[in-house]
Amino acid sequence: MNDRIVIHYDEIALKGKNRRYFEEALAKNVRTALGPLSQSVQRLYGRIVCTPGEGADREVIRERLRRLPGIVHFSLGIAAPKDMNALGARALEIAQAHHFESFAVKARRSDKSFPLNSAEIGAEVGAHVLRNLGREVKVDLTHPELRIFIEVTHTEAFLYGEKIKGPGGLPTGTAGKVLSSLSGGIDSPVASWMMMKRGVEVVFVHIRNETQFAHGAVGKIEDLVRTLTEVQLRSKLYIVPFGELQRRIIAFVPAKYRMIVYRRFMMKILGKVARREKAKAIVTGDSLAQVASQTLDNLRCIQAAADLPVLSPLIGLNKEETVVLARQIGTFDSSAVPYPDCCSFMIAPHPETRAELEEIERYEAAIDDAEAMVAEAVAQAEVRKFVASGKSAGG
Ligand code: ATP
Ligand code: MG
Repeated sequence: MNDRIVIHYDEIALKGKNRRYFEEALAKNVRTALGPLSQSVQRLYGRIVCTPGEGADREVIRERLRRLPGIVHFSLGIAAPKDMNALGARALEIAQAHHFESFAVKARRSDKSFPLNSAEIGAEVGAHVLRNLGREVKVDLTHPELRIFIEVTHTEAFLYGEKIKGPGGLPTGTAGKVLSSLSGGIDSPVASWMMMKRGVEVVFVHIRNETQFAHGAVGKIEDLVRTLTEVQLRSKLYIVPFGELQRRIIAFVPAKYRMIVYRRFMMKILGKVARREKAKAIVTGDSLAQVASQTLDNLRCIQAAADLPVLSPLIGLNKEETVVLARQIGTFDSSAVPYPDCCSFMIAPHPETRAELEEIERYEAAIDDAEAMVAEAVAQAEVRKFVASGKSAGG
């Protein structure tokens, strides 16, 4: 078998002394994502090269790698010995497998002792294809229909006809752990994904209010976590009951402030879970001024209840921009399933948009046993674990 998957990254290559750490983390994630679909995964001079298992489904490999943070692009290609005859023959095979009128051969050598330089390899292999393809095609170096890529490394050469885009960023698991406040809407799954792409491991926390006990309600949350687990490969989900606190809030807090108080109590719950998980920040799907709870005044009141940094990577995006991402990531369809969340339930017709922290704190101080109820909610949380398909289904 001379099939090879060639994986490229960029940001991690810039990390100086830590480079090896990031490369190893990416290689490990590739191994986990592919499971038995790959025979070997190796770091090789600025790239990761993987030999697929016997009979491995290329479409499944493509789908799994397409999602992995840290990968800028990858290719399903072939290996060849480092001599010009072999490179010509293999390039011709790639050309024969495609329909095109114009092509270019793009060569790169990381082995500088190879007798030809990159331009010479490209020109010579291109000429070989022109002579032997058996039909008229032309070379077009700027806008070719087919690009044949050649990489000459210290051990062998790789050839491929297509670069498949990955998400870029950094391999998950290299930047510590955060909690994501996952609502079941469109935004918070996208926010979680953006943080995964920065290298963090995301632990999900869903706060379940009383209207959600209907059959199948948390199924939607689990579907979202399952989709995102294909990105970070293993996940933990806390489902925290909110009914008792909700009733208390309704009893003590005027309707127009409830949404803010709900979210402040969510922050307190998240703070407790964060301590248990040793997570270093809280992620939310907030986008400035998108809904009433997201004015600057209200966000200040909500975030004041958190004792960790609150990261909201969608803060400057509008809904359409987030929807485009949700579709790419594959969370949109699950998010679109109707679901009564805390903030749509018991919402006042005219919620406060300029909350005063002192006033909110006065109302909260009147709620008996609030601290104990937060601790009780966390103690009653259900914890579920998820693994990506490469790990669980054995391929
Ligand atoms: P989303 O699409 O993420 O639900 P949204 O625009 O509907 O966002 P809100 O419902 O006001 O906005 O929620 C803002 C943020 O608060 C969410 O992105 C999420 O991080 C957090 N949040 C809201 N409800 C819950 C919940 N039930 N459990 C956990 N987090 C929640
Ligand atoms: Mg919501």
